[in-house]
Amino acid sequence: MVTQIAAPEPLGTTLLDELRAAVTGAVLDPGDPEWDVARLPWNRLVDQRPLALVVAADAGDVAATVRWAVRNGVTVSAQPNGHGASAALDGTVVVRTAALDDIWVDADARVARVGAGVKWGDLQTALDGTGLTALIGSNPDVTVVGYSLSGGLSWFSRAYGPGAASIRAAEVVDATGALRWVRSDDPADADLLWALRGGGGEFALVTALELELHPAPRIYGGLLGYPAEAAAPVLRAFLEVTRSAPEELTAWFTLMHLPDAPFIPAELRGQSLAVVTATYLGDAEAGERLLAPLRAAGPVLRDTFRAVAPGEVGLLAEEPVDPVPAVLAGTRLHGFDDDAAAELLRVAGAGSGTPLLQVQLRHVGGALARERVPAAAGTADEPYLLTGLTIVPSPDLAPLVSAALDQLFTTFAPWSTGTAPLTFLDRDESIRRAYPAATVDRLRAVKAAVDPAGTFRGNRPVDA
Ligand SMILES: Cc1cc2nc3c(=O)[nH]c(=O)nc-3n(C[C@H](O)[C@H](O)[C@H](O)COP(=O)(O)OP(=O)(O)OC[C@H]3O[C@@H](n4cnc5c(N)ncnc54)[C@H](O)[C@@H]3O)c2cc1C
Repeated sequence: MVTQIAAPEPLGTTLLDELRAAVTGAVLDPGDPEWDVARLPWNRLVDQRPLALVVAADAGDVAATVRWAVRNGVTVSAQPNGHGASAALDGTVVVRTAALDDIWVDADARVARVGAGVKWGDLQTALDGTGLTALIGSNPDVTVVGYSLSGGLSWFSRAYGPGAASIRAAEVVDATGALRWVRSDDPADADLLWALRGGGGEFALVTALELELHPAPRIYGGLLGYPAEAAAPVLRAFLEVTRSAPEELTAWFTLMHLPDAPFIPAELRGQSLAVVTATYLGDAEAGERLLAPLRAAGPVLRDTFRAVAPGEVGLLAEEPVDPVPAVLAGTRLHGFDDDAAAELLRVAGAGSGTPLLQVQLRHVGGALARERVPAAAGTADEPYLLTGLTIVPSPDLAPLVSAALDQLFTTFAPWSTGTAPLTFLDRDESIRRAYPAATVDRLRAVKAAVDPAGTFRGNRPVDA
């Protein structure tokens, strides 16, 4: 479905002048020549129409914007990047946080502090040589703060839980406009910290996060690419490996259909492939042994496995980083048997005609099933997450893509719980598909307590 947006009421000149006088960074409005590009999120499929953009120069600008918004009854949102864009930010003033790019690491204490503009690739690179990792997902261009507030499914979540559960503290601008730290040792902020750990951007504007870091003295990772004809034995080997995998090993099986497009290497254009991508928190020899059934499962066309530094983990999946019109959605599976394997190859394999660029089965579970700290992100014990990701070259094709995702998820209804991590909801979906009713009710109660006037809006509103 293409996002349809009603034109919002513009901000008057007086309000814009007051906002420009309050901040040192730039304020862009629909009258600016660069507006039509600046207003767009990373996901170009979402034609979002905010009232104005504040390109914050520092945390003081974020606080000044919130105070202006409270005075004038305007809604504000943070959008550092927009991988998770939805229609919810229409009619808000959007704060861009790229300039809040400080990274501070205390390896002895296993803690990092990052500003609200820091991208995953940069935090991980700062950890090279420390023997530690943070909980990065598949893409280095996503921001640490946007991802962690939204739950965050990492390469290392099977060992260390969701990204949100590693948030130790948050520097926020709250709904009174105060810039302050929210810490776990302050009982007055216990509910707010719980909500920030996975509930998204509805409760405060976050200017920095303090994160727990995790042991990773050695990391082994990469991908194996096979011809599409080998997909069935490779999927069988993937299931064999993942059924007995230690929590240090995370593997994903992907059916990939590469477009005939200039950004794809000439020899791969228009090709279908089966791909296994994996990381192992350990040395190369042990990782090799665990992956041996996969290497033996078919002719390997491409092999990038190697010992990697933390800063290279975000590159392993070779995902796009430049802004594109994209659709990403997922559903958790409580099991995956031979019938499921046959169905996956039928609806998404070579010859299926699927318009999806990739259909991926991520092995999850492990530490995701255990509560580390009180967090809205909660726990999930399903062993697999099925996702569909594609680039949508023209908005006219969005209905075709939505129909393909519907077909995929309908086919997998017998194995599916119907739930997904918050970061794997499609752009128009409600938080209710990510979290149980009791969690959403508690998030709404926290929102009513900390932001009674509704000054903040995240991409997944708690009242939707
Ligand atoms: C190619 C691709 C791969 C991905 N891989 C993964 C993956 O492996 N694991 C995973 O979990 N997710 C993954 N995602 C999803 C991604 O992590 C989420 O969409 C994430 O929310 C986007 O981060 P962002 O930096 O682009 O945030 P944005 O989309 O800019 O922001 C998302 C939301 O976070 C909140 N927010 C952000 N910053 C602040 C702030 N400073 N204060 C308050 N609220 C804030 C707001 O609600 C905002 O609407 C992937 C997405 C894509 C497109």
